[in-house]
Amino acid sequence: MEKIFWCSNCLNMSTRPRIAFDSRGWCNACFWMEEKQHLDWDARQNELKALLDKYRSKNGGFDCIVPCSGGKDGSYVSYTLKHKYDMNPLTVTVRPALSLEIGDKNLYNFIKSGYNHIHISPDPNVMQILNKYGFIEKGFPYYGWLIAIHTAVIRTAFNFNIPLLFYGEDGEIEYGGSTENKNRATYDIEYMKRVYLEGGYEKVLDKGIQDGLITEQDCYFFRFPLDKDVKEKELTFTHWSYYENWDPYRNYLIAKDFCGLAEKDDTNTGTFTNFAQNDQALYSLHAYMMYLKFGFGRATQDAGIEIRRGAMVRDQAINLVNVYDNQYPEPFIETYLDYYKMTQEEFDAVLDKWVNRKIFQKVDGRWNPLFKVGEDFFYE
Ligand SMILES: [Zn+2]
Repeated sequence: MEKIFWCSNCLNMSTRPRIAFDSRGWCNACFWMEEKQHLDWDARQNELKALLDKYRSKNGGFDCIVPCSGGKDGSYVSYTLKHKYDMNPLTVTVRPALSLEIGDKNLYNFIKSGYNHIHISPDPNVMQILNKYGFIEKGFPYYGWLIAIHTAVIRTAFNFNIPLLFYGEDGEIEYGGSTENKNRATYDIEYMKRVYLEGGYEKVLDKGIQDGLITEQDCYFFRFPLDKDVKEKELTFTHWSYYENWDPYRNYLIAKDFCGLAEKDDTNTGTFTNFAQNDQALYSLHAYMMYLKFGFGRATQDAGIEIRRGAMVRDQAINLVNVYDNQYPEPFIETYLDYYKMTQEEFDAVLDKWVNRKIFQKVDGRWNPLFKVGEDFFYE
């Protein structure tokens, strides 16, 4: 018998990739939350200052790159680097497929609040092919974009000769997953490929080329520069969350006050919050597929953040997760079918391919969980 269980502090599930639990049944995100209270943040701030001084441009050029979609996190990092640490960041956005009006507006407001910015638009037809392939073959509805937010940003760093790249948080450490980089300030492309792209990304491109759907030229923004060139330029990747206690809600408040961030009037599909991940329609499908694959969706993740910052109790979180996690992204289905050029039957067949049938059963055409959130679940 296999057992599925939930973190005894938040609601992270044992099905989450790369997660681990301690003897109390706490997940490593909760354990990290505790650890952060006693961490020597001053030492890490000194590391940050040394890093910034090392890369501060001597001739008025850009000091670092911050990938930013106009959402709360990239806005916060850009704002803090510019105004608190007197850095000159170049902010970069990789245009997603099916961007949403609220996200477009937020990005525009962010730029207007005073940033140098580059908008990269990889060929939308190529991205559609990679996204569709990712949806069907990897259960990742925006896999092409996921590749590009790494590769196209690195191409930009490379071409502009800006070796320092600031990402927001290490989601693995903050939300549960691999902790191998907990005490390391910087990381490399190998980690990016293995953990963020979950391996096999080259195969996706090569298969597209092999099948005659895309060409090598089409792949420029979807490929990393060669390893030896990256080494030569000494590209340095780092997460802001290493240097300062990562608090998504604080980021939101700063972005709202200083970078023009607006929230949606109603809540997002699949969760109870209205201020995160507003930039693209495919995010709701991504969250729903995560739910079908692993048993947790966007509400579980959002509730975990709230619990860890002390703003929600676990029982309340269970209620919200029961209401929101299993939300078929109904409002966007027509948009998805049109985008992937699929029929409803073909689309549903992809969902059926990725659902974990040991923990879900189909009732009236929709997948329903066999488990109850928070209660140990056993299966053969
Ligand atoms: Zn937890």
